[in-house]
Formats: sequence, C-alpha cells, structure tokens
Amino acid sequence: MPVKVSVEWIGDKCSRPQDCGKCLEVCPCTVFVRYAIEREPNKEPKNYVIVPSFQRFCILCRKCVEVCPNNAININVQET
Ligand code: SF4
Ligand code: SF4
Repeated sequence: MPVKVSVEWIGDKCSRPQDCGKCLEVCPCTVFVRYAIEREPNKEPKNYVIVPSFQRFCILCRKCVEVCPNNAININVQET
C-alpha cells in the first residue's frame, strides 16, 4: 500500500545543531540539510537549522530517530 512519509525536525528540542549533526551523519539517504541562519557578512553564522529537504527519499530506517539524543525528529507515515 502506498504511504506518504513526513520527516519532522523539532527545532525547540535541537538546541545546537552545529555541535551535534548526528542525524545528518546516519541518514543513508541524505534527507537532512543544515543551513546557517542569522548571517552577517564576514562573520560566523549565529545559528543553524536542520531541514528535511529531501524527505521524499526517506526509506523509513529510523536511524535518525534512534541516534538523536533529544528526541528532536519525528517520522510520520500516512497510508494514501
Ligand atoms: S528514517 Fe532513515 S532515511 Fe528517513 S530521514 Fe531518518 S535516517 Fe534518513
Ligand atoms: S541528532 Fe537530534 S539533536 Fe542532533 S542535530 Fe540532529 S536533530 Fe539535532
């Protein structure tokens, strides 16, 4: 049966994505992208976010959920 997968990153729980990044490392499908935000010219970014930009490639292995120390990732599956 076809399913729709939605990968959710909960920013309130992932306080310093630049110091962790475990979800990025374990995902075999490169679903996540880390973006710098609050940028100013010639300075280090002040903050980062993780965006599941390529969630359509998720194979539901749940490695990201298992590795995240802060329960900051949800994988939702809906039958279509
Ligand atoms: S469940 Fe697996 S494939 Fe999907 S986002 Fe997480 S690590 Fe990547
Ligand atoms: S594994 Fe969890 S805490 Fe670490 S960067 Fe990813 S979402 Fe944030």
